[in-house]
Amino acid sequence: MRRSNFLTLLPFLTLPALAHAAAPGSGITADAVKAHVSFLADDLLEGRDTGSRGHQIAARYVASQFAGMGLKPAVKGDWYQNVPFVEVKPNADASLTIGGTSYTHKKEAVVSGNGKAEGEIVFGGFCLNKPELGLKDLQGLNIKGKIVACLSGFPKGTRSDIGAHLNAEKAKILSERGAIGLITIRTLEREKQTPWTRVVDYADDRSVRWANADGTPFDASPNIKAGATLDRAAAGALFAGTGKTLDAILAEADRTGGKPKAFALKKRASISRTASLTHFSSPNVIGMLPGSDPALANEYVLVMGHLDHIGTRSSGEGDKINNGAMDNASGIATMLEAARAMAQSPDKPKRPVLFAAVTAEEKGLLGADYLSRFPVVGDGKVVGVVNLDMPILTYDFTDVVAFGAEHSTLGPIVAAAAARDKVTLSADPMPEEGLFTRSDHYRFVQRGIPSVFLMTGFAGAGEKSFRGFLATNYHRVSDDLAQPFNWEAGAKFARINMLIATEIANAPEAPKWYADSFFGKTFAPEAPKAKRP
Ligand SMILES: [Zn+2]
Repeated sequence: MRRSNFLTLLPFLTLPALAHAAAPGSGITADAVKAHVSFLADDLLEGRDTGSRGHQIAARYVASQFAGMGLKPAVKGDWYQNVPFVEVKPNADASLTIGGTSYTHKKEAVVSGNGKAEGEIVFGGFCLNKPELGLKDLQGLNIKGKIVACLSGFPKGTRSDIGAHLNAEKAKILSERGAIGLITIRTLEREKQTPWTRVVDYADDRSVRWANADGTPFDASPNIKAGATLDRAAAGALFAGTGKTLDAILAEADRTGGKPKAFALKKRASISRTASLTHFSSPNVIGMLPGSDPALANEYVLVMGHLDHIGTRSSGEGDKINNGAMDNASGIATMLEAARAMAQSPDKPKRPVLFAAVTAEEKGLLGADYLSRFPVVGDGKVVGVVNLDMPILTYDFTDVVAFGAEHSTLGPIVAAAAARDKVTLSADPMPEEGLFTRSDHYRFVQRGIPSVFLMTGFAGAGEKSFRGFLATNYHRVSDDLAQPFNWEAGAKFARINMLIATEIANAPEAPKWYADSFFGKTFAPEAPKAKRP
């Protein structure tokens, strides 16, 4: 009713408003960030486990926010990319025999898989094959139809992000070369990190995969039917009669650059276990902000965070809800406010921007993996990714960390955008954690797309806050709203992310890998590269 009155005033209001043009993102408020986190981390959402009602409600919330800020539904007119999943529950029929000796599951060994592997065993050292890095364990080794016994991890002294990648790809490479089973021998380093009792504790855990069109679980290493991890004594028995000892091999693997040599063990093994499968689905929620330059309409920038968390725990006193306030309600809240600021800015980005709240990150980066393999961009392609996972919003940060920044031209873009808010870009403060390979953007890196994973930095109170969170609240019921949130820091983080996304979307060239980047060379060998400045 008072609308017409108001409208007549508008022409007069426009001039002064333009004269004092607001800084980009200045409309992002601490209250807005707090409101999102408070809803998403509420007990009623029961920890937003993939496939749960709580996660579905969170997905509706995000879609509703996207709609309200004027984004376009990005999945053929819908907000939801429904990802088909399979829950794999190991059955109680695990069995393992090596050289005629039977080993008991959850005592001397832990057996996994859904099938049976029977054959000769070959010791493959670390089982890595990357000759350009001097890793030649599999060179000349015939593993077709065989079970391969591998040391866990990678040689000491390997760069942590590269090592983490090589370790994650191990089973896939072995499968491609025809191996049918995988026996894992724990290095001294691994024994230190994870006591055997913990390996046993997780031995019967259910896992989740996304499902192929025929309903079978997606498997990156389909030839490997079964696997086993051995304790020290069982692993030692593998080498009996070979003239080599496990102790000598472990000592060699514990040296910097040590690479125990591969050789056939002249023993046979039989490993088997079955699993029960349950199908369900859970959505990625995706909104799109159209770009303004028709020439760049096929180059999408993706800003992403995971909406799922780990649900409730079954035992323990009191509150059993893992609210996931920091992991990752804070990342989603940041993304929503960055999206709102961009959608409501009079300056539209040149490239279209996708905003995705992905599912099943906690199950193995599965929603992102699915989106990376089934992108919703038609004839277009995603040219750069910004991932927000677990920004610690309890202190006024003065630096940010962008994992992956040193690998592509996204690095200088992030640094320039952060500088506009007087925030500096710092190097990865915890290279030993291999974080670049541990969150959703990594699935896009594997498809050859330059990506960064943004986190609040370690300067000032940062390191203490981050390490304190990891030690006390990470994946626990105490990751809730009782934490000392600094909502202004949340608004600042959202603003920086808006600036970064805008910068990528408006840059004259799409992001490029640096010519010397291991990840660029590995995953985008054909793509044009940039020279490191
Ligand atoms: Zn998590």
